[in-house]
Amino acid sequence: MLIFIDVPTNGYGETMTNVCTSCSRDIPQGEIVVKFPCPSCGEVEILRCAKCRRLSNPYRCPKCGFSGP
Ligand SMILES: [Zn+2]
Ligand SMILES: [Zn+2]
Repeated sequence: MLIFIDVPTNGYGETMTNVCTSCSRDIPQGEIVVKFPCPSCGEVEILRCAKCRRLSNPYRCPKCGFSGP
């Protein structure tokens, strides 16, 4: 699913950063990213920045270790 990133806030009014699962880069607000649940465990949301999407960088699920293109 393609989404425009928007910076969420936690319950304390602090902004949370969105970090690309592939390259660990902070994703700026307004960037178009792809966000989907891990195809293996479904418990982790994978976030890939525009650059990783274009380069088809692999990602690795931090929970189950599944990696995919
Ligand atoms: Zn990235
Ligand atoms: Zn997983």
